[in-house]
Amino acid sequence: AKVLVTGASGFVAVWVVRTLLERGFNVVGTVRSNPKGDYLKDLYKEHGDRFSYVIVEDIEAEGAFDEAVKDVDAVAHTASPFHMHADDPAEIIGPAVNGTVGVLRSIKAYGKNVKRVVITSSFAAIEVPKDPPFVFTEDDWNDFSEDVIKKEGRDASASHKYRASKTLAERAAWDFIKENPGLGFDLVAVNPPYVYGPPIHDVPKLESLNTSLMSFHSALMAKDSPVPDEKLVESKGSWVDVRDVAAIHVEALLQEAAGGERFCAASSAFTFQDFLDALNDAGVPNIRKGVPGAGKNVPHNAQSGEKATRVLGIKYKTIGESAKDTVEALRSRGW
Ligand code: NDP
Repeated sequence: AKVLVTGASGFVAVWVVRTLLERGFNVVGTVRSNPKGDYLKDLYKEHGDRFSYVIVEDIEAEGAFDEAVKDVDAVAHTASPFHMHADDPAEIIGPAVNGTVGVLRSIKAYGKNVKRVVITSSFAAIEVPKDPPFVFTEDDWNDFSEDVIKKEGRDASASHKYRASKTLAERAAWDFIKENPGLGFDLVAVNPPYVYGPPIHDVPKLESLNTSLMSFHSALMAKDSPVPDEKLVESKGSWVDVRDVAAIHVEALLQEAAGGERFCAASSAFTFQDFLDALNDAGVPNIRKGVPGAGKNVPHNAQSGEKATRVLGIKYKTIGESAKDTVEALRSRGW
């Protein structure tokens, strides 16, 4: 069987592609340029012709995916802008929503073999401000960020612009399914929180590292302007390892029971202090101490990843294992 993975050059997507190839599938990735595709051809060379790529420069363009969906059996749509420098909210909401609806339209029109579509949504589409401790699940939706955008427009924080883009894109996908009865495919959404873990995508320099790993690096590894000790417990949320996110995408593509469901892909709640403690406990050298244990009593809002374990059989990596692999991979690139 053949799977289309959009945005194949991204941090999460390269692991989705690798996991699919290791499971014996053929994979077509969309990328924005030949050099990005050639990097991937090289990365997956042991799988020979089972990986190929096509160029989709802009996911928002009308009919962008018409060709790419023609002979595939399933689609994982991961491509979406994830950055914190949008000025006009439309810069980020446009590609997120139109990319998602565009790929679904292309599948409806040309993807006659497609049985399942998995979209990479986010915890951003779930989390709203709540007094801690609160545990979010697949039943929750973030409509808050969209309200902020409506009120504040360009002045809204970059985080709300990104969060609204993810909510609106996921809603648009579910609406598409509802409004188009009799489609030959169904939909699954995967909603990860902060994704960490070793990068294997092409990152020419530290400054172009993807957003979630950049925040990990700045908080835990930066030599120039490290996060002050007392702020380490203020940076908090839920996290998941990129390899688990990839496994969830693959199970979501394969398992019948996943159809029509959302899956939070979350390992546990954290503060950056917890990461430092875990790294030091794991014996990783030259890791700052911060204030050991200070993360333990911080009230948290968290995201439950239990459904992915129960329905899809996912076993999440531990914080020590994931953080160690992340630090070692970043250090191996000289960062
Ligand atoms: P990356 O920035 O590494 O990957 C994003 C991918 O989307 C890249 O391949 C990028 O291509 C592509 N892309 C973005 N905008 C466009 C566009 N307009 N046209 C064509 N391609 C585009 O980020 P991640 O791997 O972290 O994110 C992947 C997905 O996972 C996103 O949907 C993100 O929202 C979601 N996610 C990520 C989380 C995280 O913590 N990392 C958490 C929750 C969800 P190019 O590099 O060429 O620009």
